[in-house]
Amino acid sequence: MVLADLGQKITSALRSLSNAIVINENVLNSMLKEVCTALLEADVNIKLVKRLRENVKSAIVLEEIPPGLNKKKMIQCAVFNELVQLVDPGVNAWNPTKRKNNVIMCVGLQGSGKTTTCSKMAYFYQRKGWKTCLICADTYRAGAFDQLKQNATKARIPFYGSYTEVDPVVIAREGVERFKSENFEIIIVDTSGRHKQEESLFEEMLQVSNAVQPDNIVYVMDASIGQACESQAKAFKDKVDVASVIVTKLDGHAKGGGALSAVAATKSPIIFIGTGEHIDDFELFKSQAFVKRLLGMGDIEGLIDKCKELKLDDKEELVNNMIHGQFTMRDIYGVFEQNVKKMGTSGHVLQMIPGFGNSDLSKENVQETRWTKKCITIMDSMNDQELDDKDCSKLFNKQPNRIQRVARGAGVATSDVQVLLSWFSQMGKNIEGMKRLFMSKNKNLNANQVARMMRPRFLHQVGGMGGLQSMMRGNGKDMMVFNM
Ligand code: GDP
Ligand code: MG
Repeated sequence: MVLADLGQKITSALRSLSNAIVINENVLNSMLKEVCTALLEADVNIKLVKRLRENVKSAIVLEEIPPGLNKKKMIQCAVFNELVQLVDPGVNAWNPTKRKNNVIMCVGLQGSGKTTTCSKMAYFYQRKGWKTCLICADTYRAGAFDQLKQNATKARIPFYGSYTEVDPVVIAREGVERFKSENFEIIIVDTSGRHKQEESLFEEMLQVSNAVQPDNIVYVMDASIGQACESQAKAFKDKVDVASVIVTKLDGHAKGGGALSAVAATKSPIIFIGTGEHIDDFELFKSQAFVKRLLGMGDIEGLIDKCKELKLDDKEELVNNMIHGQFTMRDIYGVFEQNVKKMGTSGHVLQMIPGFGNSDLSKENVQETRWTKKCITIMDSMNDQELDDKDCSKLFNKQPNRIQRVARGAGVATSDVQVLLSWFSQMGKNIEGMKRLFMSKNKNLNANQVARMMRPRFLHQVGGMGGLQSMMRGNGKDMMVFNM
C-alpha cells in the first residue's frame, strides 16, 4: 500500500470517532482495528503494530477520563503519538558543524540510491550556504564516476574522482585530503555497493572508512524492500559505525511505511528521505511533521522550513529594490535564483498543504525552471559591470562582442543571450510603468483603467485581471515577484 493510501486509511479510521455518538470500548476497538490493518497492509512489522495498539489502549482508559474532557481528541492524540513513535528512533541525529571539515560517507547496496543521494545531499547543503563537494570512491561499477560527475556538474558542485585509479581507498583519501586543504565544510564520499551483503563490500567499506575517518556514516536504504530494511540496516550497523540513515524511493512506493518503521526500530535516526529521481526530491525527515503530513494534517513545520529555505520573507526587499531603486541584471539574478528554488520545490510545498496533494502545478514548473536556469547560467558569465549596469541591454548592443563572450562562457547560443537581454529590457520598461503606477497620486483608477495602461504580457505576468484587482487592493507586491 502506498504511503498516501496508508495516511488516508488511518485518517478515515480516526474520523470514524467523530461520527460516533458515544465513545465506548467497541468504538475504540473498531477504530484501532482499522488503523492496525492499514499499518499491516503497508508492511509495518506486526510486533510494532501490536505495540502501537497496546500503547493506545493503556493510554486511554475510557472510564477514567473525567467528564468534560474530549475523549475523541484524546484518542486521536494517542494514536498520533504512537504513529510518531513508530518512525522515531528516539536518537538525536548527527548535524554538521560550520567552519569545520565535515566528512560524510554514504554506504549501502548497489542500486539503493547512494550516488543520487550524495548529489541530493550536496545540493541541499550547498543551497544552505555550506561549502560543499563530492568524491566518487566507487571503482566497482562502470560509469560510476561519470554519473557523479554529471550530477555534480549540473548542480555546480566541485567533485573529485579518477578514471584510472582502481583503488577506492586511494581516491577517497586523496579527495578528502585535497578538499580539507581547501577548507570545504561538507565533504561527501560516495562508495560502491554490491548486489547483496558480501564480505568484499564490507571489507572495502571498512578500508575507505579507516582512510577518511568520516564524521558521519550514512546508510542509504531503498524503501522498496519493506520489512527487510530492518535486518539490512542492522547488518550494516554491525560492520561500520552507521550514524544516520537516508531512506530513498519513498515516492509513492509500496512499502514506505514498513521501511520507515523498520529502520527506526534499529535505533538509527533517519535524517533525510528521497522522494524522486530529481536532485530536488529530497527532504529533511522529522517524525512528527512526517506523520502529520501522512494523515493530511498539513505539515506545518515542514512548510515553515521550506518557506525559510526559499527566503520568501525577502520578497518585500526585492520588490522595494525594483520599485524604488535601480533595476539591474543583478536584481533579476536574485529573483531568478529564488524562483528556481521556489519552482523546484513548489510541487512539494503544495503537497504539504491538505487538499493540494495531487496538483498539476509542479509539472508546469519544470519547463519554466529550465528556462530560468539557463538564464542564470548566462548571467553567471556576465561580469560585474554588466550585472550592475542599469542600462545593461544598451551596453550589450553597443558592444556586441560582449554577447559572444557571454554566450561562449555559458555554453549557449548567442540568440539565447539576446532573448534574455530583450526580456530584461522589456521587464525594465514594465517596471518603469509599475513605478509610475505606484507613485501616481490618482487613487481613483480602477483595475480596468490600469489594465489598459499595461502591456498584455505584463498583465498576464501579474496574474491577469484577478491578480491586478488584488494588487490594487494592496497585495500587488507579491504578485510581481511570483509571476515574473
Ligand atoms: P547506487 O547504486 O546506490 O549509487 O544508486 P543510484 O544513485 O545509481 O540509484 C539507482 C537508481 O535509483 C537510479 O535510477 C536513481 O535515479 C534511482 N533513485 C535514487 N533515489 C531515488 C528516489 O528517491 N526516488 C526514485 N524514484 N528513484 C531514485
Ligand atoms: Mg553509485
